[in-house]
Amino acid sequence: MLELAPYAAQAAASQGRVHRESAPQDRSEFQRDRDRIIHSTAFRRLEYKTQVFVNHEGDLFRTRLTHSLEVAQIARSIARQLNLDEDLTEAITLAHDLGHTPFGHAGQDALNACMKPFGGFEHNLQSLRVVDHLEQRYGGFDGLNLTFETREGILKHCSRKNALLLGEVAERFIKRRRPSLEAQLVNLADELAYNNHDVDDGLRSGLVTLEQLCTVPIFQRHHDLALKEFPKLNGRRLVHETVRRMISTLVIDLTHQSAANIRAHAPKSAEDVRRAPGLIAFSARIEKEQLALKQFLRINLYQHYRVARMSSKARRIITELFNALLSEPKLLPPDFQARARDDKPRVIADYIAGMTDRYAMLEHRRLFAVEPV
Ligand code: MG
Repeated sequence: MLELAPYAAQAAASQGRVHRESAPQDRSEFQRDRDRIIHSTAFRRLEYKTQVFVNHEGDLFRTRLTHSLEVAQIARSIARQLNLDEDLTEAITLAHDLGHTPFGHAGQDALNACMKPFGGFEHNLQSLRVVDHLEQRYGGFDGLNLTFETREGILKHCSRKNALLLGEVAERFIKRRRPSLEAQLVNLADELAYNNHDVDDGLRSGLVTLEQLCTVPIFQRHHDLALKEFPKLNGRRLVHETVRRMISTLVIDLTHQSAANIRAHAPKSAEDVRRAPGLIAFSARIEKEQLALKQFLRINLYQHYRVARMSSKARRIITELFNALLSEPKLLPPDFQARARDDKPRVIADYIAGMTDRYAMLEHRRLFAVEPV
């Protein structure tokens, strides 16, 4: 096994878990985290949660589960190149979307609006809440009792107000420090993965066309390279040959630029990394190109009327579920009812956030449909 760089997160020197446990046998602390995440209930739910297209819209679109696996693949390859801890990288990627509501961003915005008077709702905080409190699998504690490093990596953004409430795991937002290189890497691998798979899903859905995408320089460049190698290529294969070239360019750029940044700042330890500026980064040119692709997707895919129509429906479903449960908590399943005695709105938000797309639609029909469900 390759030795990790001195600036990598060191499993043996982990800042530990909230509840003390004996050290794992034959695997590292970060491997144990990764394994616990894979066995969690929230992880299995990712299969039926939307990234952009709602689950019933087609079997081949990305879900939060396949998205998380693609992020893990990309982040792990780069982690290996940079001699970072692959297990920590993988653990953070597999957990990074656990707190997402059903119906993607439309669901999150609706739940956040419902929760406005009660402290708001934010999917990063919710991912942490899932692994810290909501999973119920262990005799000795709630949650998965993950290491500090994995938890800190999951908490990608956090307001100052929430950071003060969360304590140690959010301290970096108050002290303005960086997280581990592994956590920084997951952030950018996430963006890299969704930009590319949304191009693929956008084309597959027919909501965007190849001609439209060829107005985006990074797409056009790789599209032309694919055609140069295979002049007769068209259809899905041309899309795949283009997207895989784009991913490859972005992965190589991110690896090389980050390696150059690490060399320039020469951190000698994981602690040095926290005080340095963000070291995992794309080159300025690629960053600019990626931004143009992102803007294209926002206007042409995420704001497409067919996506907007589903988002509008999703907002209504989430809002109506929330309001019905808030006014009549006896509609909650018994375990949630018991917990709702302490903090009703937050427990309702936990219940709704944990729903898959299809479960939310079914529950909405059960509560609102006049005809039998
Ligand atoms: Mg993600």
